[in-house]
Amino acid sequence: MTDTPPRYVIDQMISAKSIAARVEALAREITAHYQDSEKLVVVGLLRGSFVFIADLVREIDLPVEVDFLEASSYGDGMQSSREVRILKDLRGEIAGRDVLVVEDIVDTGFTLHHVKNLLLSREPRRLEICALLDKPSRREVPIKATWTGFDIPDEFVVGYGIDYAQRNRNLPFIGKVRFPDAEA
Ligand code: 5GP
Ligand code: MG
Ligand code: MG
Repeated sequence: MTDTPPRYVIDQMISAKSIAARVEALAREITAHYQDSEKLVVVGLLRGSFVFIADLVREIDLPVEVDFLEASSYGDGMQSSREVRILKDLRGEIAGRDVLVVEDIVDTGFTLHHVKNLLLSREPRRLEICALLDKPSRREVPIKATWTGFDIPDEFVVGYGIDYAQRNRNLPFIGKVRFPDAEA
C-alpha cells in the first residue's frame, strides 16, 4: 500500500525523558483545571496521538472517559492537504460534557479547526485542546491549543506515535527526519 520513501535518518529532537516530564506537568495542569468536572471525556485524534494520550490519561488524576476520532489531513506524504475528512467518528455523545481534544501536532491548523467546529456543533459543556507539539511558524488558520507540550521549528518529525509513511510511531523519542542524499 505505502510507497517506499527515499533513504532517511532520524535525528533526536526531544528525548523520551523530556517528553515524560512535560506530559506529567501537562497532566497536573489539566487535573487542576477539571477539578469540578465529573463529565470529562478525553478525545484522541488518531492515529498520531495514541502514545501521547495513553501516557497523558495515566497521569490525569480524575475520572475520565476516553474516545477517539480519526480525521485525515496528511496522506502518507509530508504535505498537508487543506481538506479534512472524518474517517472514524466518536463512539459516545459529548453534549453537555467537558471535552479535551488530544492532538499530536498543530501545523497549519486546518485539522483542529475542522474538528473543533464539528465537536462544538454537538454542544459540549466546554472544549479544550491539548497538543503535544506546535509548529507556530506554519499556521494558516488561527487556532491555539489550551495546553501545548513543546513548540518546535518547521521540521518534519516522527516518533512517540507520529509516523512517516506509517513507520516510526514506536520510537520512544521525537526525532526529525533528514534525507542525506538530498544534502550536499
Ligand atoms: P494541520 O491540519 O494542522 O496542518 O496538520 C495537523 C496534522 O498533520 C497533525 O496532526 C499531524 O498528523 C500532521 N503533521 C503535521 N506536522 C507533521 C510532522 O512533522 N510529522 C508528521 N508525521 N505529521 C505531521
Ligand atoms: Mg494528527
Ligand atoms: Mg500521519
